[in-house]
Amino acid sequence: MKKIIKITIYVAMIILTTSYIMSNDALAQNVEKIELENAKEHLVNGEYKQAVRIYERLLENNPNNIPLLKMKAIALSNSGDELNSLKDFYKIIQQDPNNVMALTGMGVSFGNLGEYKEASNYLESALKEEPDNKIIKNYKKIIDDINIKYRYVPTEKPVSTAVKNNGEVPVWVKSVVSLWGVEKITDNDFFSILEYLIKKDIIKIPKESSFENTKELKMLSWVKGNLNLWSQGEIPNSEFFKNMNWLIENKFIKSDKMKQKSQKELEYEVYLFNKYLRDIKNNISKEKRYIEYSNPSQDVIKKFLRDYVKWNFDQQVKMPSSGFPDPTYEIINDTYIIKYKVYINQQPIGLPLDHVSTLENTFKFWESKELKTNNQKAKMIFEITQLKHEANVWVTWVVRDMGEGVLGHAHLGKGVVEVALGDYTCDGSFQLYDVESVEKIMTHEVGHSIGLQHTKDRTNIMYPTYTPSYAYCLLS
Ligand SMILES: [Zn+2]
Repeated sequence: MKKIIKITIYVAMIILTTSYIMSNDALAQNVEKIELENAKEHLVNGEYKQAVRIYERLLENNPNNIPLLKMKAIALSNSGDELNSLKDFYKIIQQDPNNVMALTGMGVSFGNLGEYKEASNYLESALKEEPDNKIIKNYKKIIDDINIKYRYVPTEKPVSTAVKNNGEVPVWVKSVVSLWGVEKITDNDFFSILEYLIKKDIIKIPKESSFENTKELKMLSWVKGNLNLWSQGEIPNSEFFKNMNWLIENKFIKSDKMKQKSQKELEYEVYLFNKYLRDIKNNISKEKRYIEYSNPSQDVIKKFLRDYVKWNFDQQVKMPSSGFPDPTYEIINDTYIIKYKVYINQQPIGLPLDHVSTLENTFKFWESKELKTNNQKAKMIFEITQLKHEANVWVTWVVRDMGEGVLGHAHLGKGVVEVALGDYTCDGSFQLYDVESVEKIMTHEVGHSIGLQHTKDRTNIMYPTYTPSYAYCLLS
């Protein structure tokens, strides 16, 4: 009884405080939060159209909101509407040109339209921002491979008819540069002068003039040398602009001019981009373009379901493991040497991730461990066999419902080992796990098949829970 009373008081208190602070704004925020949760739920259930409708509604009040645009773009792309998805990703890039997620999304969507070169350029820019991002790397690899495989004519990009900035720099700037060269003015003064001249449009720098290899480390003294050559008339203005852009990129000179575009310019960019998309759409139907999707997950799941029996050992899974032959062993120097013969099933066709070769790591992992059996030391040896009937363990990669959140399954001591290739929980469509995650699950399951149970030690491979990473899901 006492307990119930306590709970009632607690609930009443919460209601009181919330209603006390809840203003109209807070109410609106709460409604938005609920809407966002609803949209996310639709998305992960694969109900993309419903999710898009909610994002559209929320964007009405806040049309440039980057997180909303991002979610809407992903939902659109998943529903197969790449053109509209690109429009939203583009809106993000206009506001934030280095947005990794939008750059990656642009790459994926252009790939899904068969514009592989453009796709690769965007992924390249995304990788510049996050060189270690595995998802971007996976996409880049696939798209570059497809680009080599198929011949296609890239859709031409509409050229801006706005007056092209070919660069302008008055001759007298040369004397300012030579003063800096002989250290009559300090670095900081020199940079402020340049900032001022750029701001006042006295120096106009074409954005596209830059050094080819920007990754290479260059020093300020090197730029100083170049500019000195320019002031003496030994190198052309185009070189001056490259060095200016280097100074801007490396933050020696602040230039807001580059970033601030007028509303008109932004609209013109959108106009050109939309024209580009229309041209792509026309080309796709005119050429009857064959498109291989950027994300192989959908293709893999289709092939997997078509050939279900090939990848799944349904009967053997249901069978008790006693139906499998026992591994053989010999005792050398008081140590059991237990030999497992393993039959390895093929991987589904079209899977660009190689899991078979990672089995070697799994086998090495267990072969290097000293285990115990019958209170004696034991060592494992694995041997691959093509003959199912003599194998003690059968290994396969599957996409089947093994139970909620179950990543793999194995019989204890011998029998079938199944490891999940991916699942539907990232963004509502089937998404493959990355190679490292699948290898980890495999090592765990093989552990069971050589007789090991779960442990409570989180750092141990036999710990029962694990969160896999996805190879291509943009929401992860
Ligand atoms: Zn387990």
